[in-house]
Amino acid sequence: MLQDALKISVLASGSTGNALYIESEKERLLIDAGLSGKKIKSLMEKIGRAPEDLDGVLITHEHRDHTKGVGVLARKYHLPVYANRATWENMQSIVGKIPLDQCFDFEMGKTKTFGDLDVESFGVSHDAAAAQFYRINHHDHSFVVMTDTGYCSDKTKGIIQGADGYLIESNHDLGMLRMGKYPWSLKQRILGDRGHLSNEDSAIVMSEVMDRHTKKIFLGHLSQENNLKELARMTMTDTLNALDIHVGEDVFIYDTDPNEATPLVEI
Ligand SMILES: [Zn+2]
Ligand SMILES: [Zn+2]
Repeated sequence: MLQDALKISVLASGSTGNALYIESEKERLLIDAGLSGKKIKSLMEKIGRAPEDLDGVLITHEHRDHTKGVGVLARKYHLPVYANRATWENMQSIVGKIPLDQCFDFEMGKTKTFGDLDVESFGVSHDAAAAQFYRINHHDHSFVVMTDTGYCSDKTKGIIQGADGYLIESNHDLGMLRMGKYPWSLKQRILGDRGHLSNEDSAIVMSEVMDRHTKKIFLGHLSQENNLKELARMTMTDTLNALDIHVGEDVFIYDTDPNEATPLVEI
């Protein structure tokens, strides 16, 4: 039903900056604002939206690629900002001063209502103070965003089960990372339990959490050094096809880009 629509655009995704736009009839939110305020404004314009329309910004964790533009946007457009307490403490130096009446706690494991959206936060395994991602529920539609995680626990798999759409991390190709020019310590960090999901991990997680409701999968946070869109897409496609889930029929895969917004897609 059209009036029940939940729409999303991945404005940008990758280690240079992340922002996800999500809207319903009553609510317009950003999840993360990891690019300059100016860049986020121009990305929103590409999908016919403006920062003035936003009702708030939800933060996942303090890393710069998720928080760079938060302060500017909050001050310029008087936006409320939501993050858990540990993230607030650790992002202070990046976001600068945000008026106190615009700062809100959104603790891990809690669900908050924003207009006609119920947003559930859940913790992930990442090298930040207390990284959390979100499941957005709107009537009988739901969308999950989960990037920046070294692995996906059974508890998390339970929380993200059976959504209509996903933005899931597909950070690196294992072969490219192993052979690539990153120093050993950085490779270890990325491969570790608190690093990032590989294409292979991502495909396995998706195959475990998706069900017949799941129609749209956005592959996010691709490394520009250790991955290719084609490779990420191929790994996901091959894994799902092998399980008799037909990509292009049962489910559709979308690329994301560090510099270009995806179209506004109905979930
Ligand atoms: Zn990140
Ligand atoms: Zn991160």
